[in-house]
Amino acid sequence: MNGTTSNGVKIANSGVQVQTQINPYTPRYADLLSRVNNFSIIESTLREGEQFANAFFDTATKIEIAKALDDFGVEYIELTSPAASEQSRQDCIAICQLGLKAKILTHIRCHMDDAKIAVETGVDGVDVVIGTSSYLREFSHGKDMAYISAKATEVINFVKSKGIEVRFSSEDSFRSDLVDLLSLYRQVDTLGVNRVGIADTVGCANPRQVYELVRTLRGVVSCDIECHFHNDTGCAIANSFAALEAGATHIDTSVLGIGERNGITPLGGLVARMYTADKDYIKSKYKLDKIRDVENLVANAVGIEVPFNNYITGYCAFTHKAGIHAKAILNNPSTYEILKPEDFGMTRYVSIGHRLTGWNAVKNRVEQLDLTLTDDQIKQITSKIKKLADIRPQSMEDVDTLLRDFHHAVISGDPSHVENVLSTPAVN
Ligand SMILES: [Zn+2]
Repeated sequence: MNGTTSNGVKIANSGVQVQTQINPYTPRYADLLSRVNNFSIIESTLREGEQFANAFFDTATKIEIAKALDDFGVEYIELTSPAASEQSRQDCIAICQLGLKAKILTHIRCHMDDAKIAVETGVDGVDVVIGTSSYLREFSHGKDMAYISAKATEVINFVKSKGIEVRFSSEDSFRSDLVDLLSLYRQVDTLGVNRVGIADTVGCANPRQVYELVRTLRGVVSCDIECHFHNDTGCAIANSFAALEAGATHIDTSVLGIGERNGITPLGGLVARMYTADKDYIKSKYKLDKIRDVENLVANAVGIEVPFNNYITGYCAFTHKAGIHAKAILNNPSTYEILKPEDFGMTRYVSIGHRLTGWNAVKNRVEQLDLTLTDDQIKQITSKIKKLADIRPQSMEDVDTLLRDFHHAVISGDPSHVENVLSTPAVN
């Protein structure tokens, strides 16, 4: 539904009719334009991810990754330009022929030679990019805005004549002149592009800047808006969220965030963020319990480990340690968990073999091991665990052995056995 409101703000693609009367109690335009629960992922592991320092994907690996992403449920898969190399071109054709549900895109420079190669591969759409910042205009391609505008028109008209999707993006958008940028986007919108793209190519933008630029752009174009955020200063996920709040419709991701330098918005991290905003929507779109397999696949392919603190799948993502947390978690997991591990095929782990442990967590383990101990007995053995853990951390096996020994002593009915287990000096 496109239209213009009384204050001149154009409303596009929101599907919402905006009242012309100003009522301070109605949602702000910003809320009406939000796409937090209506967006698509453009998964760029096979394009941006190929720019990761370690990445080299052979054809079989690319196909495996594309199938895994498709199974997970991403809406688009973006591939390296077929103009980059002959193998890239052949791989592009091979992936287009897989018949995946996800639409296949390729990413090209704003150049007719590249466009001609791209449209012949069978892709569903072409993502066109050109640098518009003064840095790139001066030090990279050396072209002025008039040249960029003429080239964009030629390439967009050509791709559209082939009946496939076309996105036009600037590069380094946040360091481009705003007037240049908006007039270029307005022009390509008039030509009928499916999406315009904003790219924080150097990772300099913050969420507030993103919100403002996307909101401004939302008022200027009626097509969809795609955003691409680099993570040099740690804002990629927050920027993606801010962009969606402001009315962006598509977010670029890569698995584990791999890409040029330290990469872009990670697929898993974005999913975690958006699940928190609208759980039912995210669960209805994506097979969340596949995220770990997709990440392991890509981590293996590029020879890295999944980071310990990774969103959802990092080894400590659902590990609870402090005694007071453990007690609350065991009573009600929502106390210290915003993500439900079981929704992602993960399991919660309560760590108990350390000096911060508490008797409630130990009691939970006692029950898991099917041992019968009274609360007082559990408190006694908990203080023993704390004493041992003051010397060195205790593994789960250490703790289980101690609990079993203690239980054995208790049911023997011989107080000296119990005394023995509780008093034996720790030998480490
Ligand atoms: Zn990038």
